[in-house]
Amino acid sequence: MKNLLGGKGANLAEMSNLGIPVPPGFTISTEVCTYYYDNGEIYPDTLKDEVIAALAKVEETLGRTFGSIDDPLLVSVRSGARASMPGMMDTILNLGLNDLSVEGLAKRSNDPRFAYDSYRRFIQMYSNVVLGIEHHNFEEILEEAKDDKGVHLDTDLAADDWKKVIARYKDKVKEVLGHPFPQDVHEQLWGAIGAVFGSWMNQRAITYRRLHDIPGSWGTAVNVQAMVFGNMGDDCSTGVCFTRNPSTGDHEFYGEFLVNAQGEDVVAGIRTPQQITIEGKQAQNSNLPAMEECQPEVFKELNAIRHKLEAHYRDMQDMEFTVQQGRLWMLQTRTGKRTTKAALKIAVDMAREGLITRKEAIRRIDPVSLDQLLHPTLDPKAARTVLARGLPASPGAASGRVVFSAEDAENWVNVRKEKVILVRVETSPEDIGGMHVSEGILTTRGGMTSHAAVVARGMGTPCVAGAGEIRVDHAARQMKVAGQILSEGDVITLDGSTGEVFLGAVPTIQPEMTGDFATLMEWVDTIRTLKIRANAETPQDAATARKFGAEGIGLCRTEHMFFDPRRIIAMREMILAETEEGRRSALSKLLPYQRQDFIELFEIMRGLPVTIRLLDPPLHEFLPHTEAEIAEVAKEAGVDPALIRARNIALHESNPMLGHRGCRLGITYPEIYEMQARAIFEAAVHVSRETGRSVVPEVMIPLVGARKELDLLKAAIDKEAQAVFSEQNYAVKYLVGTMIELPRAALMAGEIAETAAFFSFGTNDLTQTTFGMSRDDSGPFLEVYRARGIYERDPFASLDQAGVGELIRIAAERGRVTRPGLKLGICGEHGGDPASISFCQSAGLDYVSCSPYRVPIARLAAAQAALGEGTSSGTA
Ligand code: PEP
Ligand code: MG
Repeated sequence: MKNLLGGKGANLAEMSNLGIPVPPGFTISTEVCTYYYDNGEIYPDTLKDEVIAALAKVEETLGRTFGSIDDPLLVSVRSGARASMPGMMDTILNLGLNDLSVEGLAKRSNDPRFAYDSYRRFIQMYSNVVLGIEHHNFEEILEEAKDDKGVHLDTDLAADDWKKVIARYKDKVKEVLGHPFPQDVHEQLWGAIGAVFGSWMNQRAITYRRLHDIPGSWGTAVNVQAMVFGNMGDDCSTGVCFTRNPSTGDHEFYGEFLVNAQGEDVVAGIRTPQQITIEGKQAQNSNLPAMEECQPEVFKELNAIRHKLEAHYRDMQDMEFTVQQGRLWMLQTRTGKRTTKAALKIAVDMAREGLITRKEAIRRIDPVSLDQLLHPTLDPKAARTVLARGLPASPGAASGRVVFSAEDAENWVNVRKEKVILVRVETSPEDIGGMHVSEGILTTRGGMTSHAAVVARGMGTPCVAGAGEIRVDHAARQMKVAGQILSEGDVITLDGSTGEVFLGAVPTIQPEMTGDFATLMEWVDTIRTLKIRANAETPQDAATARKFGAEGIGLCRTEHMFFDPRRIIAMREMILAETEEGRRSALSKLLPYQRQDFIELFEIMRGLPVTIRLLDPPLHEFLPHTEAEIAEVAKEAGVDPALIRARNIALHESNPMLGHRGCRLGITYPEIYEMQARAIFEAAVHVSRETGRSVVPEVMIPLVGARKELDLLKAAIDKEAQAVFSEQNYAVKYLVGTMIELPRAALMAGEIAETAAFFSFGTNDLTQTTFGMSRDDSGPFLEVYRARGIYERDPFASLDQAGVGELIRIAAERGRVTRPGLKLGICGEHGGDPASISFCQSAGLDYVSCSPYRVPIARLAAAQAALGEGTSSGTA
């Protein structure tokens, strides 16, 4: 029912059906939200009566009346979308209080202080969320009230003090709005419902949806539910708990709670919470009593509910509860967010416990989340100075320059192009943009379930929370810690796995694939049918690719090998040469380098396929452009700078991406490809002879648009191969194939396959040429296109299955008609994107090739695609 009732609503109903104590309430479905936005922000006709009827049922269940002066029913009004969007939308608590019903609450609770405090909280929240009055108006009044009384804490204010605060709050509302705070509880209810629907379209929610690919068309539900109070005395409490540890995945009850508090106090991280279990208390070195000790009966009941819910949902649950005067109420359960490490442990453990199947375990892991484990950790051997310690709120290590506001974070990253660590006392949903661009997040207040911790874990950003020794001076853009002052721009390092904060940049080490990660990867490999290769040209990249399980190299971009300082000289000499002879002489200097590169790649790949693409980019990319560089290169090469300038002018193109590049270079300067082919075959012969292993190079021609291009180039490559084999008196097998990265190539694939032994889809260029949209210049307007919903995703990141995908299907089909069993792969950036991988599976490709660090992601995504689980949404 999640689509209709939202996650929160559906789970409340489910818990209720399981006989778990849930405060009575009702849910206004997401369909109402959709209707509301489709019809100029009005409700369906029937809504009013249905809400009144549902409310009457709640009144009847509890024996309380909404707005009653004797025993008022109070409700919470909360958003609840299909996908969890923590803190992004509005919530209103204590609704139903007014000048009369507050008296009823005071009588019933026998606690006037509590009643007036609840009323003032309600006025504050409602005025802010529904009436749009800024917080500071109320905070100032509250501070004045405390000053008048000479106290510092809210808890030092008595019932009469709160009454005065309420009077001043109401005056303030009247002053700002020109009309009084609504006393009619039904008016309050409809105001709150409208605000929740309205918050679906607030800026933070829109940003969050964009970052998490949540469609705006889903809408939110509204949950109206009877209030229960965790702040009615010391037999009351409120908290958050998980059926397993969300950081480590350990099978232990994990959670935090606060005595005599409201739920928002836990999430806001203002007070330091107590642990649920004694074990947890010991692990956190806390001296506050655990619930297991101070509320043992409630603990027992909560623990039983924990087991019941996990067995029912067969997944780790994140639950919110409130204890009112000794009675436990469950307010929420949902699939718990977890670190990737925990996700892997939980999935593997649950499969071993027999709770889920291995296939289910594979489906459970979001491939992209593996990225978290593929990031560096601190080098244990590196020297370090600990500045402070906090909670290990989100794992991973990161260094960066400290900034003290979300806005500054965005500035430093986007304008100054620097990496930053966002340091805040605590974060709030407004900080989402700044949190997203930061390498790490550090807060000085708040627990493992604080906003910063939850959001950082979701983003896979390292986070240390609640580092209380640090004093932040927001205005001065400084922080004080361990007797030092650090200013904006100073570098620190966080270890989100230990909670430590270090001065300066601490070196990191590369990740390994072990433990549950390795286990799941073994399971994954028994399921998937797509092969996974890597795009790699350096020995390090190739070694990393192998370590992560790549089954070959799908794209070695040879031009990257020419940028080495010694080689670029010969490359430039070749470009500056006026004659074929001059070019050949320069190329002969490059040959040994290329041969050595290929020898190393073939050795590392130990007989796995290696696809080597011949030179692709336009030649001007290798020439210097600024005057200073031109002078330097001229000196080095012993030529007149004027020659370089003239060559630059001659090579200048209006549309270099559509110009003299790819196989067009091979056609016009055959000697370039001849040298590269020679280097490949000499290297293959060398390694095959030395190791006795078969080496089958796959020579790939870029940017082919006509069969004839390929025919000519293949003939030249074959000729070079024969020459090398007869010189060496040793032959190896090899393939000559092509990239399919132009629409014409896709359409002519039937003909091209007569010559090509394989196709590799270069979806970067194919996207560029299909859309007629530069891959280098489209960033700024693509943002607008995405925001306007013209494309749901960036087509350069996630394959446009409808358009570009159609060309791939056509090429695959036509190619295989000519050459049954034609080997098909993809080597554009899309090769590491799970949705695109799912498409590749359905289009019948043999392999995908992606960057080495994405290989595990691709392996998992391929298994999910084989299970029919991949996300299949396309771009447009
Ligand atoms: C492509 O175009 O998809 C491709 C892999 O080649 P490059 O990115 O080098 O143009
Ligand atoms: Mg390309």
